Amino acid sequence: MIALADTNLFNLKQLNYFKKKGIVNIRDLLFYFPRKYIDRNKKLDLRKINPQEVITFIAAVKNNIIKYGRRRRLSVVLEYEGTLIEAVFFQKLSYYQRVLKNGVEAAFSGKIEIFRGTYSMTHPDFEIVTEDELVHTGKIIPIYKITETMQSNFITSRVIRQSIHSIIKLYFNNIYDHLSEEIIQKLNLCDISIAVKNMHFPKSWENLETAKRRLAFDELLVFCVLMDEIKEKRKEIKKSFSLKNNNDLYTSELTNKLPFELTKDQKSAISKLNELSRNNWPFGALLQGDVGSGKTLVALFSALKYAENKIQTAIMAPTEILAKQHYKNFLNYLSFMPFFPMDILVGKEKASERKAKLQRLKRGETLLIIGTHSLIQEDVEFLNLGFVIIDEQHRFGVEQRESLRKKGLNTDFLAMTATPIPRSLTLTIYGDLEPIIINEKPAGRKPVDTRLFDEKDIDKLYKGIKKYVDQGRQAYIVYPLIDENENTEWASLMSDYEYLEKDIFKGYRMGILHGRLSSEEKERAMQKFKEGLIQIIVSTTVVEVGVDVPNAVVILIRNAEKFGLSQLHQLRGRVGRAEHQSFCIMVKSNKITDEAERRLQAMLESEDGFYLAQKDLEIRGPGELLGIKQSGLSEFKIADLRYHSNLAEKAKTIINENKKIKETIMSVNKWQTNLRKGFLLFHN
Ligand code: ADP
Ligand code: MG
Repeated sequence: MIALADTNLFNLKQLNYFKKKGIVNIRDLLFYFPRKYIDRNKKLDLRKINPQEVITFIAAVKNNIIKYGRRRRLSVVLEYEGTLIEAVFFQKLSYYQRVLKNGVEAAFSGKIEIFRGTYSMTHPDFEIVTEDELVHTGKIIPIYKITETMQSNFITSRVIRQSIHSIIKLYFNNIYDHLSEEIIQKLNLCDISIAVKNMHFPKSWENLETAKRRLAFDELLVFCVLMDEIKEKRKEIKKSFSLKNNNDLYTSELTNKLPFELTKDQKSAISKLNELSRNNWPFGALLQGDVGSGKTLVALFSALKYAENKIQTAIMAPTEILAKQHYKNFLNYLSFMPFFPMDILVGKEKASERKAKLQRLKRGETLLIIGTHSLIQEDVEFLNLGFVIIDEQHRFGVEQRESLRKKGLNTDFLAMTATPIPRSLTLTIYGDLEPIIINEKPAGRKPVDTRLFDEKDIDKLYKGIKKYVDQGRQAYIVYPLIDENENTEWASLMSDYEYLEKDIFKGYRMGILHGRLSSEEKERAMQKFKEGLIQIIVSTTVVEVGVDVPNAVVILIRNAEKFGLSQLHQLRGRVGRAEHQSFCIMVKSNKITDEAERRLQAMLESEDGFYLAQKDLEIRGPGELLGIKQSGLSEFKIADLRYHSNLAEKAKTIINENKKIKETIMSVNKWQTNLRKGFLLFHN
């Protein structure tokens, strides 16, 4: 690989700076992609600009003066296509005054405000462009990320642009494509050399997209190979225990005692997990099933397999309500064996009780422990933890799941999620896990009747709720209290509640549930709701995850536009859990964005979690869909999973069909530290 030092393009100071950033050879520099591009030919209509939007344009400096007013400032007048725009700077006035001299042309970006017919920008981002350079670059100009230190080492966007230009010119033919022509054609990709060139100097926006697609594919290919490796490596690890199949004391009894038949998908999920658990290496699996598809029972059945072998299982749920619900359900399912060694560990508990529980756990007497985050506290020890189950996995970070796993030795691992994500995304995000999917819902469930209303219909809707409650059913009313410290929203929930309780639903048994209640209060409210003592529960999203009350048939969602699609789908999943006809009533305010409208329409269109997940992905992108905790995983350098996720599946196929590719990638990655970088070889 040709070192940057050998190109004579940079001085020593610059080379040192690059080295610090891990850029030592020409390949590294070629992968220093532009942060944005400017289309010189695109004309902006300043009258139609959106003041919220960052726009970029090339303008000439007409004048600059320091003004004294309430605050000293530098006012730089720019001319763009005959229109004057004032750029205002409040800091480093003399520096900007020196740089933005009369006649200088620069690419400016920022938000433009219009005030009494004049256009202005505050502290716009800018980069000076010179005429001779514009001639070189064509109509789309790449702009590179330049930090202040780079600037002070004289590494400007321009320097980078010109160096890359020279490198491509000199070494274009040396760029080696590791993908065979056959694969490139089959997948309709472009050559790597062209892709790299077009990332920096695209002739058109289509060119750029094509380049991105190719690099995204490489990136995903590397990623999939590494995921495969992780899976393979896991097979070399020895589990500290082995499960024998000859004992199915608990499981067969549970099958007989269940009041219903397991669905086909539940059965196959259970047998898949049993199969994985009999391997002598630890497995990792992801159980995806829509809300209400009965994942909890699958978890219980597989945990019992370990219990039959005297191996401990821990189930971690994101909230106390959920942990307690699992515990109670399990007690219920297992009521035929009242002494089954099972326990629950949640936040606040009497010290003496907690101590006793921890002791039983440490001595290996407890075979199944259910809990919240409290399970990962330091004082929690196991004798032989062999199986870790994470419910509502998207609520946890990777570190949390790993710290629970570390309480055992090479434990098996099952993540469960009711946020279905598109298959292509599963491959990339959870590539190291074995996917298990439950599609089928338990028999006898009717689709939830989903409808959308305006605020003004609210009284009519309340009447509707009363009708069903009078028939003996129960209802949820949900408010979008996103941040419970947000006092105005808080006030609205509390005052609404009072009004609902004392006025609208007078004479009905009401309850409230929100994050500011203590966990005992939450638990009590939820318990009362489950037992039917509360008929209508007014709640925030605390109720969202996994709560199961089959007699509840209406969920009314206030300000439905404020919820994400996956969240709405989760909320809807609170009803329709038994044979009664159920309703999901979404109420929207009149202040609603197009994007929110699309989400609500999607809810009306479908009740299929996978379909909605795909929609959500398209509307919001993967970061949002997966929640902040997971988004680190979706930060690819080039690949944008909204558009490129299907490439992951293709990459997977290529890897399976072509073992050599995997070898190549693994050998390249020996010297490649940054796995997101894609890979690119040179003939020397
Ligand atoms: P989720 O997949 O959302 O976690 P749960 O495990 O909470 O769903 O199950 C939802 C409800 O369905 C529970 O009340 C559970 O007892 C019930 N259930 C689970 N499996 C079946 C089945 N095979 N037939 C009927 N009801 C079932
Ligand atoms: Mg659940």
